[in-house]
Parts: sequence; C-alpha cells; structure tokens
Amino acid sequence: MAAKLYDLVIVGGGPAGLTAGLYAGRALLKTVLLEKGFLGGRAFTTSNIENYPGFPEGISGADMAEKLRKQAEKFGVEILTGEDVVSLKDGELKEVTTAENIYKAMTVIIASGLHLRTLNILGEREFVGRGVSYCATCDGAFFTGKKIIVVGGGDSAIDEAIFLTRFAEKVTIVHRRDELRAAKSLQEKALAHPKIDFMWSSELRGIYGDNMVQKVVVLDKKAQKEREVSINGVFMYVGNVPNTAFAEGILQLDENGYILTDETLQTSVPGIFAAGDVRHNLLKQIVVAMGEGALASVSAEKYIESLK
Ligand code: NAP
Repeated sequence: MAAKLYDLVIVGGGPAGLTAGLYAGRALLKTVLLEKGFLGGRAFTTSNIENYPGFPEGISGADMAEKLRKQAEKFGVEILTGEDVVSLKDGELKEVTTAENIYKAMTVIIASGLHLRTLNILGEREFVGRGVSYCATCDGAFFTGKKIIVVGGGDSAIDEAIFLTRFAEKVTIVHRRDELRAAKSLQEKALAHPKIDFMWSSELRGIYGDNMVQKVVVLDKKAQKEREVSINGVFMYVGNVPNTAFAEGILQLDENGYILTDETLQTSVPGIFAAGDVRHNLLKQIVVAMGEGALASVSAEKYIESLK
C-alpha cells in the first residue's frame, strides 16, 4: 500500500469533522477527511434539528450534512467515504490506516463520533429491519397507523418519539426510571402529546414475532412483574458508545472510552487532536461539535507552524 501524504487527516465526517475540514481548507492545509459511512454523523438521522442557532424553523440532519459537505469541498478538502479507520500510529508523520489505504500526515483530528448502544436482548438482532429500528427518520414511515415502542428517556428517544407520532397510531416510551433525562421542553411536548404514553420504571426483556415483530415482554421493575405488549415496532435510543477502538493503547481515553484532551483539544499524543462527541466533554450537541472542530483545526495549524 502506497501512503498518501497530507498536512491533516480528519477521521469522521460529522459536524465536528466537516467543520474542522472547512477551517483547515481555508487555512490552505492539504486535508483529507475519512468517513466510514455517510456524511453528517449522528445528526444525519435527525429529522428536525430545532436547537441549531440561526435556523428558527429547524433544519433536517440530511440538509445540514449536505451544506457542510459543500462548504468544506469549496475550500479544497478531499472527502472520502467508505474509509473505515482501523489503526492509528504516532511518529514523525502520523499514520492513519483504513482497510485499503494508509494516510500519512503531520496532524490528525479524530472526530469519529459515537455509535448507538444496543440493548442486547432476545430478538433485538433477529428483528432488525423487521420491526426493530435505530433510525426513526429512515424507518418511521413503515409504521404508518401502527403501534410503536421507543426505548430510552434521553433527548434522542423523546425527540424521535415525537417525530414518530407523524406516522404511528400510538407511541409508547419505555424508560427504565420514573424520570426522563431529556430536555424539559421535549419532556413537556411528549407528556402532553395525545399519541404518546409511557411505561415508567420498565425494561424491555425480549422481542418476539413471526416474520415481523408482534409483541414485546416488558418488566415493571417496581412491581417485579413481566407483561406482554402487542406491538408492531421497537425503536432503540438507549445512548451511545464512542468510536475509539482504533485509538486504544495510543491515545489516553476516559473510563467510558471518550478521548481526553487539553484545552487546545490536543490529545495525549502531540499533533493528534480530538473534536466533537468522541471527546470527553460536557455537552454532546451539534453546535459544540462544530466549535470544537474549528478549534481543533486551528490548533493543528499552529502545531504545523511550530514544526517549521
Ligand atoms: P443519553 O442522553 O445517554 O440517553 C440514553 C437514554 O437511554 C437514557 O434515558 C438512559 O437511561 C437510557 N438507557 C441507557 N442504557 C440503557 C439500558 N441498558 N436499558 C434501558 N435504557 C437505557 O443518549 P441520547 O438521548 O442519544 O443523547 C446523547 C447526547 O446527544 C446527549 O448529550 C443529548 O443531549 C444529545 N442529543 C441532543 C438532542 C437535542 O438537543 N435535540 C437530540 C439528540 C441527542 P437513564 O436516563 O436512566 O440513564
């Protein structure tokens, strides 16, 4: 494999990575952005982003991703999809390896984001695409007039449960506690919604069906009683896991696998920076991820200058 040479390699094409690219392009750094799936990251699957400043009517994740891509490419960033990073090496030049290519650069920004946590319960894996989904925007319309369960109590679960009421006859939110984690404004919307009801202090134990999902078993934790609920679909929003497997043993991570950085967003390895949801930070929001992408890019530029 012949290595390709750059000033900066960005790992991940979500809001943090694309913004880092935009800033690097404007600073005339020779930059490549590697994305294993689709651009836009987790935000891509959000039906309507209501809290991104400057868009009072909201914007869909897909629209935002497209605008970010155009803007980064306008400033000369090479964007490659289908590039899944498998390893990272420090050295005079950093080395980022994907299944088919090696990229060498003076600096690297890791903006690889998160992937959705799975519950690992009976039937979950078996019924993916046949009633079990992790993406309301992608699959919601298949459940028109049907009954759906959404698992989780965070912003994603509540946001997407509200979105799913466009299609579903009824949406039941199953949450393991008797209090939601989601923002208060979302809670209020969901609690007042005529199509949404709640199963509090409850856990999904199994998903059953024939060809498609037909029922679930839910444990009421307070009563310690299981019951069957007839249902057509289950949407899982039970949190996230950082995409840092390729950085293990190279970068310092926190106990949950998020990347630790200093205030310039440099990791424990000089010249390697991290930005966005993959970083150990206080707020996982698009606007924060973008700000971090900009900062990581400027820090990478300064690092390169310091080598000259
Ligand atoms: P999250 O905030 O981590 O919430 C995950 C939810 O799943 C929690 O309610 C958690 O319960 C529950 N959960 C975790 N493990 C579980 C298990 N094994 N069984 C059952 N339930 C389980 O994740 P998120 O909602 O995806 O949000 C992630 C980040 O993105 C947050 O910082 C959020 O603010 C941000 N986000 C923001 C927006 C927005 O601003 N509109 C939209 C989406 C996401 P507990 O509450 O009991 O821990």
